[in-house]
Amino acid sequence: MNIHEYQAKEVLKGYGVRVQQGIVADTPEAAHEAAIKLNAETGTSWYVVKAQIHAGGRGKGKIQETGSNGVVLAKKLEEVSEKARNILGGTLVTHQTGPEGKKVNKVLIAEDVYYPGDSEPKEYYLSILLDRAKGCNVIMASTEGGMDIEEVAEKSPEKIIKEWIDPKVGLQAFQVRKVAFKLGLSGNAFKEMVKFIAALYKAYEATDSSQFEINPVLKTSDDKILAVDAKVNLDDNALYRHKDLAELRDITEEDPLEVEAGKSGLNYVKLDGNVGCMVNGAGLAMATMDMIKLSGGEPANFLDVGGGANATTVEAGFRIILQDPNVKAILINVFGGIVRCDRIASGVVEAYKSIGDIRVPIIVRLQGTNAEEGAKIIDESGLKVFSAITLKEAAEKVQAVLKG
Ligand code: GDP
Ligand code: MN
Repeated sequence: MNIHEYQAKEVLKGYGVRVQQGIVADTPEAAHEAAIKLNAETGTSWYVVKAQIHAGGRGKGKIQETGSNGVVLAKKLEEVSEKARNILGGTLVTHQTGPEGKKVNKVLIAEDVYYPGDSEPKEYYLSILLDRAKGCNVIMASTEGGMDIEEVAEKSPEKIIKEWIDPKVGLQAFQVRKVAFKLGLSGNAFKEMVKFIAALYKAYEATDSSQFEINPVLKTSDDKILAVDAKVNLDDNALYRHKDLAELRDITEEDPLEVEAGKSGLNYVKLDGNVGCMVNGAGLAMATMDMIKLSGGEPANFLDVGGGANATTVEAGFRIILQDPNVKAILINVFGGIVRCDRIASGVVEAYKSIGDIRVPIIVRLQGTNAEEGAKIIDESGLKVFSAITLKEAAEKVQAVLKG
């Protein structure tokens, strides 16, 4: 699960990680108030207005409606509300959002930490993630902060420092010093960076995260090290033991169909094709998607209704698939092991009647317990539903309906 920058910074602060201070706001007026409060707390008179969306590249990204960037500097208190107005409610397109962009509902009003007029601040890159191939966590760092790290990795991979952590002994103090040293730091900045990395790693482990990315980490002209940006990815499978973090979920950032499917206990992933499919079991779902491709179609989704599929889950699955305008046909491929085929067939017919107005042909392949009885229910329903017993038969019917 992803969380917003403003939430991530609060989490990091709780573990002693120094961050750029800020206050979140959802209206231009609240942004103005936030700036006043921030000035009282930090003494800052320059402010950074930052769009809060679950995607990076905001600084270079553009708000479609106003042309504003997703991260802008306000050098006067009076400018804050206007700059926030140009971002709030707009659609931010960055290299990570895709061309459709993401709607901005909140902005973070942050203190300017680049000390204008002072000597050059220095930006670093720092991330912690699980290296699946090596089976342990890795700290990655680079002096090339603030830039697109994928580009650095491609053009000058030697500029990325990696330190792997042995899960048996955990992060060792010498490893942290090694990273800070390789970043070319010395004196107070070195000490600050060591503290920063150690605290960050503690936060990473304690929150059961799968990825932290801090880009940029800033070294101020007075040698403070702090997080200017924070991307935190929490492990969904561990959320049950972090109720406070689970509450940070923002479903407006997620695909609405996937959210709806999740509520019904369905595993749904939207794809770009034209044949919707509903299957029980992930393996069968993948085989079915292959079959759709072989018959000349493209899968419109992955949908696993699970082993205990019944009329309710079938109906929920139907409704989700039908909301996708690209769908030209639906293939239901169910193996009747735990659930009997005749019950699935009745479920399909019931769901069909309950939804009404279904304009796409439906092919139902039932195999397993009571497959013949199931096929009979489908064939005798009088609806635009076709039954198939073998996979080949199902494929041919999909091909036939796609050709019209
Ligand atoms: P991202 O573009 O989504 O990664 O958002 P970031 O939080 O990394 O901000 C983008 C850029 O805004 C940073 O790389 C900085 O150059 C700039 N920025 C962020 N905070 C400040 C600040 O306090 N002062 C100034 N002058 N620039 C900032
Ligand atoms: Mn960033």
